[in-house]
Amino acid sequence: MSKLIEVKDLVQRFNLTTDFLDKLKFKDGKLKIESRIVNAVNGISFNINEGEVFSLVGESGCGKSTTARTIIKLIEPKGGSVIYKGQDITDWNPNQMLPLRKDIQMIFQDPYASLNPRQKVKDIIMEPMLFHKVATNKNEAYEKCIEILMKVGLRPEQANRYPHQFSGGQRQRIGIARALAVEPEFIIADEPVSALDVSIQAQILNLLMDLKDEYGFSYLFIAHDLSVVRHISDRLGVMYLGAIVEKGSKEQIFSNPVHPYTRALFSAVPTINEESITESLELKGEIPSPINLPSGCYFHERCPFAKEICKRVIPSLKEIEDGHEAACHIL
Ligand code: SF4
Repeated sequence: MSKLIEVKDLVQRFNLTTDFLDKLKFKDGKLKIESRIVNAVNGISFNINEGEVFSLVGESGCGKSTTARTIIKLIEPKGGSVIYKGQDITDWNPNQMLPLRKDIQMIFQDPYASLNPRQKVKDIIMEPMLFHKVATNKNEAYEKCIEILMKVGLRPEQANRYPHQFSGGQRQRIGIARALAVEPEFIIADEPVSALDVSIQAQILNLLMDLKDEYGFSYLFIAHDLSVVRHISDRLGVMYLGAIVEKGSKEQIFSNPVHPYTRALFSAVPTINEESITESLELKGEIPSPINLPSGCYFHERCPFAKEICKRVIPSLKEIEDGHEAACHIL
């Protein structure tokens, strides 16, 4: 399988203090400039092969969505590189990125917020088709629109309705139809089912899998729930405070999770825990603020196995078995 995207040492930071006067603080009797920096993504690396589903999993606020937005340059990376089909796109300008805006599509968590409430469904789907010249005229775009609506499980007559006339699951189907409209090759699905009822989640996941099988898409799939990524992923990375702490194939991670944080995540999902882990680990405390990252291993304040070295030295990813890596001093 050839690599579709390679993410190397990616860094993303945000400065919360935009007003210069807010940055001025008195400290030890002196006026100093102080900024509040959110360290959202702290040097992560992963590849996604063509036709593969790679998932990023972790608690809310661990940097999964920021990673997704950074690799397609909705936010400019602050460090590292992104290679797409062998081309380094890290410093590409908006004009250079334009063809990729067609090839890479996003499906969002909140389908309602991501759809224009004043547009009919047919316009939501036809507009990007015409913009990216996937259809040469409105008639052709309409025909394709109807075809896609049926593909995602909606009826042709629903093309003339507005988003508020649909249920949450149907709105997500519209979001998927909009992504399909421009014939993409890579889809980033950012928590696409977390706002939906459990019964609807399975339908949408099955739809995404069927579309992958039919069109050969690659996916970057983002979720906070291990049970959601279980069926859809080929490989996954577990994120904690903007870093990948463990990555490997679905089989490796689900049958032999080795990082204490991954094991704690599994313990929080009883149905998975029974089958995959013998010893459960309770996840204590809150995730620390990305403004003040802990020293050493970011997980040491919550880890039941933390040793002295964990407070001082950041562990790097090391190979546990072929294709399975984890970042922990005790492994
Ligand atoms: Fe726990 Fe130390 Fe491993 Fe971090 S490096 S996960 S603190 S044992």
